[in-house]
Amino acid sequence: MEFRDLKRQYQLHRQAIDTAVQEVVRETHFISGPQVGQLEDRLAAYVGVKHCVACGNGTDALQLALMTWEVGVGDAVFIPDFTFFSSGEVVPLVGAVPVFVDVDAETFNIDCESLENAIEYILHHTQLVPRAVVAVDLFGQPAEYDRIREITERYGMFLLEDAAQSFGGLLGDCRACSLGDISTTSFFPSKPLGCYGDGGAVFTDNDEWAERLRSLHVHGKGRDKYDNVRIGLNSRLDTLQAAVLLAKMEFFEAELAASQQVAEQYTMRLKDVVQTPRILDDRQSAWAQYTVCLKDSEERSRVAVYMREVGIPSMVYYKKPMHLQEAFIGKQVKAVSCAMTEKLCGKCLSLPFHPYLEEEMIEEVCACVLKGVSNG
Ligand SMILES: *Cc1c(COP(=O)(O)O)cnc(C)c1O
Repeated sequence: MEFRDLKRQYQLHRQAIDTAVQEVVRETHFISGPQVGQLEDRLAAYVGVKHCVACGNGTDALQLALMTWEVGVGDAVFIPDFTFFSSGEVVPLVGAVPVFVDVDAETFNIDCESLENAIEYILHHTQLVPRAVVAVDLFGQPAEYDRIREITERYGMFLLEDAAQSFGGLLGDCRACSLGDISTTSFFPSKPLGCYGDGGAVFTDNDEWAERLRSLHVHGKGRDKYDNVRIGLNSRLDTLQAAVLLAKMEFFEAELAASQQVAEQYTMRLKDVVQTPRILDDRQSAWAQYTVCLKDSEERSRVAVYMREVGIPSMVYYKKPMHLQEAFIGKQVKAVSCAMTEKLCGKCLSLPFHPYLEEEMIEEVCACVLKGVSNG
């Protein structure tokens, strides 16, 4: 069994993907080919924002957003403690200070009370200026943007949506990637919309920021490529990746619907056994991961071992709270307790998940979970 079955997806859509790739190879317009602009238009329309700037990966996308706002030395940026390293990594990269905030026990997304406490701490106990919140849509579910936006507006901060895991997700009628002042995503192969290498994109409704993003992602270009008006990055999405993504957009909605079915199957079988994902009423997850919580780390190990014995992979997203990562020693300000994140890191387990997972396979996975739980 595959954790995320990309081979199956390719087999099913081989003709469309091969045709798209061959066209790029024939035309040899490998950088900034016409497919890149087509993809940007397509994604902007899908998400419902004015501008999409495709770039090299989801990490660069986050950095480009912070560079656009000129977040840097003397600034504090707030990030959930339970996320992938990138969400926090980009903050010291631009010279700012990361402040990690606790998450909600059930949605795993940023806890607004903890966020507000952290902002107040920074205001009253440091010289730093609270500048931005990185709200992560963890495992595919959009965070609590109504409350987060109220907070960022009250304190005059920027709201950056890290939608690397939630492309395709919904909050009410609004797509993930439209929920921040700037929103970013990743097309890493295992994300909900994945390409065949690294890729990412930045979304915004703001014309001025969009223009700056277009410059920043190509060496801070001015009127043309050899006129440089600012220090930027070399972070373009290449034409091959854009072509693959355009082909995949044709069946993306069908994949989302299939993922929803798989999630419902899992939940039906597991909801009385373990803590299954809680998706809030007005939301739809893009299901980057299906993550359950066991009683403790012993129970989690038992389940993982039973799965491994029958050839079923599982993953722990995430093993370590961000504030405990060695890389942030001496680079962060500790403002609030992140006790919930510490707990979750010890008991969460992500199960094999993709739109093509069949009922028999789901049953097999659930049998291992049951066995691990009942043999405690
Ligand atoms: C994957 C991921 C990223 C980074 O994306 P890359 O394309 O791998 O650079 C950032 N944030 C989160 C939450 C992610 O899951």
